Amino acid sequence: MTKKTLFQFIVCGVIGSGLQEPVLADGCGNCCAAVPTTLVSTNALTDAEVTDVMLMREEEKLARDVYNAMHELYELRVFSNIPRSEQRHMDAVLGLLRAYGLDDPARKEPGKFENTELQQLYDDLVLRGAKSRQDAFLVGALIEEVDIEDLVEAMKRTDREDILSVYDNLLGGSKRHLNAFVRNYEALSGETYQAQKIPQKEVDAILGR
Ligand code: ZN
Ligand code: ZN
Repeated sequence: MTKKTLFQFIVCGVIGSGLQEPVLADGCGNCCAAVPTTLVSTNALTDAEVTDVMLMREEEKLARDVYNAMHELYELRVFSNIPRSEQRHMDAVLGLLRAYGLDDPARKEPGKFENTELQQLYDDLVLRGAKSRQDAFLVGALIEEVDIEDLVEAMKRTDREDILSVYDNLLGGSKRHLNAFVRNYEALSGETYQAQKIPQKEVDAILGR
């Protein structure tokens, strides 16, 4: 994202939050418990909160789009079930964007991202996952580890309960997804999964080891 774009989002948040009618979150399946359904605050978010919410929206899209791409290559149930969960995560973050009058950075086209780092990551991970089913499971586990790391960091940068509630919901999902990808990887490869992004002991704790 360019500085200018980010600035526009921040200004939009400041102005939009005071003027807009309450916006209902919609199309979010069964995730609505964690989604704010009204304009929750007229206070602007901090720059860090805005950046984090925008990042999480696209990061959930990255997960969804990579898994959908893997499902086109391999008819594996894990890659048809988990994208539905990622869609609900995207919807939950969209609820936050709307509640705070922020523009949605997520593009409609699969595999396309405003955030250039996420674009690069998407391109790399789809290539890597295309090598084999085993690699696809490792890619899935890596995405969930990245997601967990970014959510934990984002949770340190906000004390807003609506945001924390959504992040906490996403974090629980990511931990379940990490478990699922690791189980699939280990069953197929006969290897023990090694952490790829966050410390091994944190991964072990999530896996109950
Ligand atoms: Zn997710
Ligand atoms: Zn996930």
